[in-house]
Amino acid sequence: MKPLIIANWKMNPVSLEEAKSLFSALGEPTSGWNKRSVEVVICPPFAWLAEGRQQATEGGFTLGAQDVFYEDKGAFTGEISPEMLKSSNVDYVIIGHSERRKNFGETDEIVNKKIKKALEAGLKIIFCIGETEEERKAGKKNEVLQRQIQEGLKDVIDIKDVNVAYEPVWAIGTGNNCEVEETKETIEFIKKFVLKDTRVLYGGSVKSENSGNYVKDAGADGLLVGGASLDAEEFVKIVKSAE
Ligand code: PEP
Repeated sequence: MKPLIIANWKMNPVSLEEAKSLFSALGEPTSGWNKRSVEVVICPPFAWLAEGRQQATEGGFTLGAQDVFYEDKGAFTGEISPEMLKSSNVDYVIIGHSERRKNFGETDEIVNKKIKKALEAGLKIIFCIGETEEERKAGKKNEVLQRQIQEGLKDVIDIKDVNVAYEPVWAIGTGNNCEVEETKETIEFIKKFVLKDTRVLYGGSVKSENSGNYVKDAGADGLLVGGASLDAEEFVKIVKSAE
């Protein structure tokens, strides 16, 4: 299985012009990553998905969304359904990111509803889990991760299209990435609850100077990259380190 590298642009960049140039700077022809040995998914804000679609095939990357709702259609102002994403040629969706859990009150139950609906629509999932600093300090990391996995995947019959991203909350956007040895142990723990070939990624302050270690030494099947994915040169280095 190829390593999976996800770019989570979050709510960036702020203009269509900037989004266009970031898409084209990232693509395979300009950057030279080898799409036969690594799978790259760019997750821009919803507003830039159409532009991403135009550049994805030539750029050698796949497109993902950063969130989705769990209803098909109707009076849900501001929401986007899994079918809408699928029909816009989006292949992946991030579900359960800690920023959504924290800022938008997403519970394990909501995450579970979103995963089920998105799978029904044929989307591939990047299912984010991770403990907070307080939970880690209290020795509750494994308990939290186990709960998030079991609740998030409750009644999901077929998880072959689910990828799990282990993202310690204290490592996201802080520059304080998780030690490789600890990541390795945690990935091994997570793998007990999923299929043998479920990809388990690492995310949290990934940069080109540490990215290769997660894939080569910690056993991560890929990376979820936030801040560093907005710098084309840096992101391309990260992709290449996983090839
Ligand atoms: C993320 O947004 O999922 C993330 C890991 O962010 P960063 O790489 O900036 O820590």
